[in-house]
Amino acid sequence: MKRILITGGAGFIGSHLCERLLHEGHDIICLDNYYTGSKQNIEHLIGHPYFELVRHDVTQPFFAEVDEIYNLACPASPIHYQHNPIKTIKTSVMGAINMLGLAKRVNAKILQASTSEVYGDPEVHPQHEGYWGNVNPIGPRSSYDEGKRCAESLFVNYHYQNNVRIKIARIFNTYGPRMHPNDGRVISNFVTQAIMGKDITVYGNGMQTRSFQYVDDLVEGLIRLMNTDDSFIGPVNIGNPEERQIIELAKIIIELTQSSSKIIFSSLPKDDPSQRQPNIKLAIEKLGGWHPTIGIEEGLKKTIDYFSKHKSCTK
Ligand code: NAD
Ligand code: UDP
Repeated sequence: MKRILITGGAGFIGSHLCERLLHEGHDIICLDNYYTGSKQNIEHLIGHPYFELVRHDVTQPFFAEVDEIYNLACPASPIHYQHNPIKTIKTSVMGAINMLGLAKRVNAKILQASTSEVYGDPEVHPQHEGYWGNVNPIGPRSSYDEGKRCAESLFVNYHYQNNVRIKIARIFNTYGPRMHPNDGRVISNFVTQAIMGKDITVYGNGMQTRSFQYVDDLVEGLIRLMNTDDSFIGPVNIGNPEERQIIELAKIIIELTQSSSKIIFSSLPKDDPSQRQPNIKLAIEKLGGWHPTIGIEEGLKKTIDYFSKHKSCTK
């Protein structure tokens, strides 16, 4: 049994990670300030003898004797991270400093939830880990992108300067149950719109692409990464290379929900990346043959099912 701290544990991905690691028999501390997460996401775990919930902000130091830290605390959806961009930068940068300081002090292994956003609007396609990216440092997405890039730099420097055992995961677009219905990301938007019979809001002409990964595949990849040999620090892409145009995604969701919703087009947000697809060769090699197992239709069905059962939260 390991003592594991999960920051951002009450969020979408964090809640799935808490659940999985708890069921594997570990002792979990779930830390969150509930900015975008909620107690509902982890309410089924509350009361378990090895599940501890802590309300805390990672921009402040935190102390606990733990063996591993998964650092997920950070709003992930553009509308949320752009709502208070200075706080977003503080969460990524000061959060990384505080959690790396803790890892150093208690000799814990620490994993950073980085992002495909470090590649910005990529000129290399698909994106491999050696690509340095194309990020606008002063654009509307910069609080998130540059915050995460700085966090990666902090991680590698704590590793080389202070021998902290680190892992960096570059996570590509992930979806599934417990996404916040109002968080503005494309899958939660389209699914809730389709269920309610509202117009499906495609930004731009819908020709931009993303590659969508179901949350269970990501959680498996993160745990395998944490368990790799100390000499492997990443960064490693964790994503599903099945690339789709946004317009195509809208049509699939309309079909799966048998919705009467119509597609409408509105303006594309500034600096919206035009394409994104992970090269996952490194993950397959280093994470024991890990590869995504859940295709878009299967994953969407599970997600649609979740949002249909939680219809009250889509109102
Ligand atoms: P989420 O918004 O559902 O979860 C983030 C969690 O962090 C929330 O529970 C939130 O309350 C908490 N949080 C935010 N600021 C905090 C702070 N200062 N102190 C403590 N807690 C704080 O988002 P998610 O999709 O679950 O993303 C989790 C992590 O994975 C994030 O770091 C995100 O950047 C990364 N990521 C997600 C995706 C994706 O597609 N979902 C892609 C790439 C990277
Ligand atoms: N998008 C869209 N309609 C929506 C929400 C998003 O067309 O209601 C588009 C968005 O412009 C982007 C893609 O879907 O091109 C993915 O957006 P999301 O915010 O989910 O993720 P990110 O841009 O951070 O990859």
